[in-house]
Amino acid sequence: MAVTYICRHCQTFIGEIRQGEVNEFQLGFHFLTPEERRDIISYNPNGDVTVKVVCDYCKEALEANPELSLLANPLQ
Ligand SMILES: [Zn+2]
Repeated sequence: MAVTYICRHCQTFIGEIRQGEVNEFQLGFHFLTPEERRDIISYNPNGDVTVKVVCDYCKEALEANPELSLLANPLQ
């Protein structure tokens, strides 16, 4: 199972974990509520997982302009 991290705002590729050993417990997914999991984690048909996080660029932009976080991504 591979885990790919992309930015939830700009879709930038952030990183990837390719380990046979990795599981949801190690990734910390068990801390998430069911709603958060549905929002953040995408399970691909091939068994891989895509996790939507916030990249450094968007994090800075959001911190500089907190009102931006209220805007939903029109692409989603
Ligand atoms: Zn971003």
